[in-house]
Amino acid sequence: MTEHRLESSLPVKLISSTRITDIETDEVRKLVFYVDEPSFRYSPGQSIGITVPGKDEFGSSKHHRKYSIASGQDSSTDDGIELTILVRRCFYIDDFSGEQYPGRASNYLCDAKVGDTIAITGPYHNPFTIPDDSKANILMIGTGTGIAPFRAFIEKIYQQKGCWEGQVRLFYGAKTGLDLLYMNDQADDLVNYYQEETFRAYNALADRPLSGEEKGLENSLKNNLQEAWELIKQPNTYVFIAGLTNIMPSLDKIMCQAAGSEDAWDDLKQKMLKENRWSSLLYS
Ligand SMILES: Cc1cc2nc3c(=O)[nH]c(=O)nc-3n(C[C@H](O)[C@H](O)[C@H](O)COP(=O)(O)OP(=O)(O)OC[C@H]3O[C@@H](n4cnc5c(N)ncnc54)[C@H](O)[C@@H]3O)c2cc1C
Repeated sequence: MTEHRLESSLPVKLISSTRITDIETDEVRKLVFYVDEPSFRYSPGQSIGITVPGKDEFGSSKHHRKYSIASGQDSSTDDGIELTILVRRCFYIDDFSGEQYPGRASNYLCDAKVGDTIAITGPYHNPFTIPDDSKANILMIGTGTGIAPFRAFIEKIYQQKGCWEGQVRLFYGAKTGLDLLYMNDQADDLVNYYQEETFRAYNALADRPLSGEEKGLENSLKNNLQEAWELIKQPNTYVFIAGLTNIMPSLDKIMCQAAGSEDAWDDLKQKMLKENRWSSLLYS
């Protein structure tokens, strides 16, 4: 597919910013921008870049971070286009001082006010490509804001490709029930596909609110392990993973149990990688 990448950054207007998670848990905001540039085009699953203006406290500039486009359809008109991203307000702890610092780009975006202008770059490559064979199985595994590329992906499979004969599964983990809202009820686009015979979504919560969303993912895989394992073993199954990097130890732990040993799971993973049936989009 041809990518239409902007030559330079493009100013876009923030038209809404809504917190979509509970106050008790990590803040995730849904931001909608208006792109007043008819030549701007994106396809589902691509990401945009944000460069934070100014220098940080250590004097470094050019703080650039990527965010997956969560809106499925490029409904651009001659006038312009709306574009949605989901941003988790991110903090990190300094190893030496123990102090908490705000992540620059995510806090810049979460603090932005409706009407503000923000410069975007991209759109950038989508790591998840729909397999050519519509009988292929697709396993999507993710947490938190990792839902963004999957929302776009599922919409593309069923709306643009027509019927999909392979099995499509989404295993998704969250911290609290309200986090799950941004998977379906509030942004109810995924619900549209629950009627599809080949689509099932399994979401689960962490056992305790203070555990991370990867614990929710462990639960959603554990509760449906037989089904996940039967599918993952098949030679025509593609695995797509999106979300925070700490997904991987959780996924490996559960799959080692299903495979019977670490080596057996590693062999299967290597085979899928070699055959381009394993793709991930992981970030900290
Ligand atoms: C293709 C792609 C798509 C993405 N999609 C999304 C998305 O849809 N939603 C989303 O919320 N995020 C997404 N991300 C992650 C996003 O790009 C950012 O990485 C995230 O928001 C954190 O950026 P930040 O500038 O707020 O934090 P930063 O300021 O970059 O800090 C983030 C991390 O950097 C480290 N760090 C930075 N500075 C220091 C320091 N001085 N000392 C110690 N550690 C430090 C820490 O590990 C910290 O956790 C995506 C990433 C990629 C690559």
